[in-house]
Amino acid sequence: RKIVIAIDGYSACGKSSTAKEVSNILGYRYIDTGAMYRAVTLYFLDHHVATTNPKEVGKALQDIHISFKINSKNKSETYLNGLNVEKAIRTMRVSEMVSPVSTIKDVRVAMVEQQRRMGKERGVVMDGRDIGTVVFPHADLKVFMNADLLTRAFRRQKELLDRDQMVDLDEVVENILQRDKIDTTRAESPLRQAEDAVVLDTTHVTLEEQVDEVVRMALA
Ligand code: C5P
Repeated sequence: RKIVIAIDGYSACGKSSTAKEVSNILGYRYIDTGAMYRAVTLYFLDHHVATTNPKEVGKALQDIHISFKINSKNKSETYLNGLNVEKAIRTMRVSEMVSPVSTIKDVRVAMVEQQRRMGKERGVVMDGRDIGTVVFPHADLKVFMNADLLTRAFRRQKELLDRDQMVDLDEVVENILQRDKIDTTRAESPLRQAEDAVVLDTTHVTLEEQVDEVVRMALA
């Protein structure tokens, strides 16, 4: 029996890394919804979309087509209008704007609609901020992840370094705090732990242990 697994939580606490591994082990489809909001943000920045103008936002949303493709290393990569943007959406330039953009109602409506369509075929792991609460409130398994701020910041800094981006720890901490604040306080589907979610604190847990735990719950 294939199920829908929703993984939500604060910024940079290992949701994507966990979701990716779990989907590989279970042979499920992995959908990184943060990447979708990041792709929209990249488009808005590159096309100078005035985010306060609903008409401009609506027009841009019609012109934005996001998809995921599996590369030769069996990794899912994000495409925006046919172009691989996997690297471009992980830059600080995008990280600094993505949470404000994600507060826009029309942006969320468009993304949620697409995410529901992508998750229709069972056997999917989706990670984000509102998956267990809004996108798939009836998901079979909901996981809510968290970790200490510094642990999250160190991990994210290392991840950026692995992508040849050198960013000060202060800047990473600041960005995580800023995004968490916007994500938890926005009017439109704020980040919340679903009542029936299982909490996973990853501060003292290795990625392998996290993954094992989610796989075990999925198969239970
Ligand atoms: O998951 P990631 O950190 O890449 O997400 C980037 C940003 O996108 C989050 O900080 C949040 O503002 C937004 N987001 C969201 N809803 C989701 C996924 C991401 O608002 N389901």
